Amino acid sequence: MVTIKRIISGISAVAVAVFPFVSMSDQPDEVRIAKFKGDCAAAVSFTFDDNMRDQDDVAVPMLERYGFHGTFFVVAGVTPDTKEEAAKKKAGEHGSIGWDRLKELAAAGHEIANHSWTHANLPKSDDANLEQEVNRAYERITEKIGVAPLSFCYPGNGYDDRVRKLVMQRHVADRTFQDAYGGKDFTAELANKRIDDAILDGKWLVGMIHGITTGYEPFTSPEIFEGHLKYVKSLEAKVWVDTFANVSRYIQERDASKLAAVIVPGKAVFTLTCPLDPVRYNVPLTVVIPVKGKVSKAIARRSGAEKELPVRLCGEKLLVDAVPSEEPVTVTWIAEP
Ligand SMILES: [Zn+2]
Repeated sequence: MVTIKRIISGISAVAVAVFPFVSMSDQPDEVRIAKFKGDCAAAVSFTFDDNMRDQDDVAVPMLERYGFHGTFFVVAGVTPDTKEEAAKKKAGEHGSIGWDRLKELAAAGHEIANHSWTHANLPKSDDANLEQEVNRAYERITEKIGVAPLSFCYPGNGYDDRVRKLVMQRHVADRTFQDAYGGKDFTAELANKRIDDAILDGKWLVGMIHGITTGYEPFTSPEIFEGHLKYVKSLEAKVWVDTFANVSRYIQERDASKLAAVIVPGKAVFTLTCPLDPVRYNVPLTVVIPVKGKVSKAIARRSGAEKELPVRLCGEKLLVDAVPSEEPVTVTWIAEP
């Protein structure tokens, strides 16, 4: 993360003259990139493995009730085309959500991601089979969903350097750590404590979910998951909930980007430059601008762009969400003491 001290020499005298209601000493001294979107203390992604049907029937309505998006890691080679074909499978079987429904989930903002072609043990697969497990699945998902998958999760969480190297040729994120949700000893208290710990530690929590009511490691009751989501929602000022690919890309962009900023009372100009491929790494980063006084009329605009960028006041800071780009962003606001 880059923190740039404000640059005021030569500008401050002019700025004070233009904005006489705010003295320079009222301005805290740094513009920074937030650790997580919205300057949240923690992030959480809910990931669902093996496209089991009750993830859709039971968990998706819960996620949508709270405005959350999940990541669905699908086993591409066993996924049927239609709901009718999917209905012939048991609810807890790999591939029991069909492509037509997965496409609807993608359109609703959920992430459809790669969990291999047949759920094979990848470190034990020879090169030809590994290629099929990773890239044939990648191509099938791209064809069926209409967009290429960004994330990969290893069957049985098994990988080595050879496997990972191939996966990362085409994906931008792979799941290499996770906390299992579900099973007979799993409680809402346990799940909620993980969120509390993530906030304390400033971490990204990746929940791994299989069965909801049936299949592998289901919850003893779906209400456990619902209660947990409700708890997470109650902490929305502190916890950013988003898909695996979005949080992963945020972190990668955040760590690779350089922020240059100039701040004077009532105005800040910054550029966020990132060396990563802008086609795939296009998740907005939150830039935090310190402000004092009673702030109103904050506007953020990128040079040459018609549309304003999202900006919101949060205590004594303005939060601006901007995709990294060479084009500078100008933020203006009115502050009364
Ligand atoms: Zn799996």
